Amino acid sequence: MPVEPERIQKLNSAPERPDRDYILYWSQMNRRVEANHALLYAAALANRHHLSVLFYEGLTCTYQYANDRLHTFLLEGVPETERRLRSAGIGYVFYLRRTKAFRNDVLYELAQRAAAVVTDDYPTFIAREHNQRVPRKLDVAYYVVDSSCVVPMSQIEERQYAAYTIRPKLARLLPKYLKQPDPLRVKRRFDGVLPDFHTRVTERNIRELVAACDIDHSVCPSVDFHGGRIAAVKRLDFFLENNLAWYARGRNEPSAHATSDMSPYLHFGQISALEIALAVREHAQRHKLLVNEYLEELIVRRELAFNYTRFVDDPGSLNNLPEWCLQNMKKHASDTRDPVYSRKQLESARTYDDLWNAAQKEMLVRGKIHGYYRMYWGKKIIEWSRNYQEAADTMIDIHGRYALDGRDPNTYANILWCFGLHDRPWPERPIFGTMRYMSYEGMRRKTNVEAYITGIEELCGHRADQRKLFS
Ligand SMILES: Cc1cc2nc3c(=O)[nH]c(=O)nc-3n(C[C@H](O)[C@H](O)[C@H](O)COP(=O)(O)OP(=O)(O)OC[C@H]3O[C@@H](n4cnc5c(N)ncnc54)[C@H](O)[C@@H]3O)c2cc1C
Repeated sequence: MPVEPERIQKLNSAPERPDRDYILYWSQMNRRVEANHALLYAAALANRHHLSVLFYEGLTCTYQYANDRLHTFLLEGVPETERRLRSAGIGYVFYLRRTKAFRNDVLYELAQRAAAVVTDDYPTFIAREHNQRVPRKLDVAYYVVDSSCVVPMSQIEERQYAAYTIRPKLARLLPKYLKQPDPLRVKRRFDGVLPDFHTRVTERNIRELVAACDIDHSVCPSVDFHGGRIAAVKRLDFFLENNLAWYARGRNEPSAHATSDMSPYLHFGQISALEIALAVREHAQRHKLLVNEYLEELIVRRELAFNYTRFVDDPGSLNNLPEWCLQNMKKHASDTRDPVYSRKQLESARTYDDLWNAAQKEMLVRGKIHGYYRMYWGKKIIEWSRNYQEAADTMIDIHGRYALDGRDPNTYANILWCFGLHDRPWPERPIFGTMRYMSYEGMRRKTNVEAYITGIEELCGHRADQRKLFS
């Protein structure tokens, strides 16, 4: 059995049609060849029906906040995906919808020749919406496969209250799922002709392709992150060699940069949590390290976020918070906020707080904020916004626009964590009530604020095209 059945769901009642040309894998979120259960399932179906596999990946200009940063990161992964698929005998179609005038029915055209469509089971962003809308429009079987989580989401049957409730469930299930997936093998190689809408992406033409898209060109590519499988593996290897051993101590000192920086690659599916967990475990066994703290973040915290988004309709809504949080916000809704910053002031990092400004600048230029200061960043936005929903919307929008790991289950679960999700009540204070509070003094006591600010200032000076982000 190459893929555990509990990862797979059929979302329509249409049959498989083996008389057609290929099995279509529509890569929406897991944009990789390795350790991709959805692609493995497509290959298994193809082998069963003596067909080949066609891997389809698209990028449109129409999703909210489409911009140079997000487009570039994604496109940087494409040439390598194509190379790997070609050597595996799998066909590859990439379609870049540059403007709204470009056709928008490519999936449907490819599906007409497919014996079945397989895609990613993913609880947020456009994949969630596609998986609700598309299956009923097709005359062929439509399967979604969970290749995002180590333990399939379906195995946690209810919404979990906190890390302590999901942790023992995951621990019980992990031995079954924390294992190397079967190798990808197709019996029949793809020998079809590529459609004329296929967009050829090379390392050399990415800039030109991005420039031709009708998207927001004011958000430039990250100064630090290069997209793609090769970059993901390189960064993981660096982390294993240099930082895993002291992650437990170093992760809460942002100026030390001891965390793995895997979140952008995880979000774009260029590497999987399963592959990272296996690599970490292997490295730990070889070097006799204890790595529970890292696996707690990668598996428990991350899969708690997937669990949350899977069980709610609108993951960014504060109405999803537990009752104690709702009562708390009601009680403190009219507390005085002073100062209150506009979205523009926040976005362009213009507050009185030098640490907060540096964290926001990290978001502007790198496309993520170190996890420890990201909590502080969120808490301060609550303090400086007119009301709680405005604070949540600001955080979600800034993530949507600038974060390479935004629009992810982790985005919503962690932004709502700032309001009390998966947390517990703390001593009462203004504005926050019983939500956990984080102070500048606390950050100074526990971390090297000056070193972080200096590091971010150096990063900001790096490239001229970053300056427009602060205007
Ligand atoms: C307000 C706020 C917003 C956030 N938005 C995002 C987001 O948009 N995307 C995102 O991936 N994470 C988000 N996080 C969680 C966390 O900050 C990032 O996952 C982490 O900083 C990513 O950096 P890293 O890969 O170096 O993490 P590491 O410390 O190296 O951790 C490894 C992996 O574990 C997972 N992880 C780590 N911390 C958490 C956490 N608290 N909850 C769930 N999973 C975690 C991530 O997948 C991460 O890549 C947010 C946190 C806060 C407080």
